[in-house]
Amino acid sequence: MAADQPTVLVVEDEQAQREVLSYNLEAEGFRVAQAENGEEALIKVDEDSPDIIVLDWMLPNVSGIEVCRQLKTRNETRNVPVIMLSARSEEVDRVRGLETGADDYVVKPYSVMELMARVRAQLRRTRPAAVGQRLQYDDIVLDAETHKVTRGDAPLKLGPTEFRLLSTFMEKPGRVWTREQLLDRVWGRDIYVDTRTVDVHIGRLRKALCQHGGDDPLRTVRGAGYALG
Ligand code: CA
Repeated sequence: MAADQPTVLVVEDEQAQREVLSYNLEAEGFRVAQAENGEEALIKVDEDSPDIIVLDWMLPNVSGIEVCRQLKTRNETRNVPVIMLSARSEEVDRVRGLETGADDYVVKPYSVMELMARVRAQLRRTRPAAVGQRLQYDDIVLDAETHKVTRGDAPLKLGPTEFRLLSTFMEKPGRVWTREQLLDRVWGRDIYVDTRTVDVHIGRLRKALCQHGGDDPLRTVRGAGYALG
């Protein structure tokens, strides 16, 4: 499994529903984290840094609305899309009225196909490369579906690790990534890799990007990490 697959956090107190949803998300190629109540959801958000959260409205103790409100007030989690699940459309109206900041709402019983489409729609905005979108930065074009990279129309030869590094950078041009963040995203957090390995692959990526000439678009940020542009 590629380390850069998006992680979906499923928050649902009913075990059967949680499992069906997780099974389908995994079949679609997502990594899945699960929580069965609001408190656990907030812990899992910190532990698993999900790319998107599917959040049931009706949860014991801390409700889905409260979880969403907390996530949307914290800087680190504010931009993580939240899809709220609700049992009835009247509830959805109430949820909307409460302005929790949820990015989308789905009424139960929902079709799994529809929910998957909504998940993908949110990720196209926040993790475009991970859902097969074409990315462009300056004269560099990365096609996540065909795994092809070109610079000024000339195809670039890139190793798989360099490709994942580049797609990470191209999803958020200008963002400074620490070596640890790049390790988590590109190599996966379950694998032990020395942070110096990141420097080695950044070096290879730089070389690959300039194989037909052109400026080095990657910036080393002293004491912090790396950024594109
Ligand atoms: Ca529930």
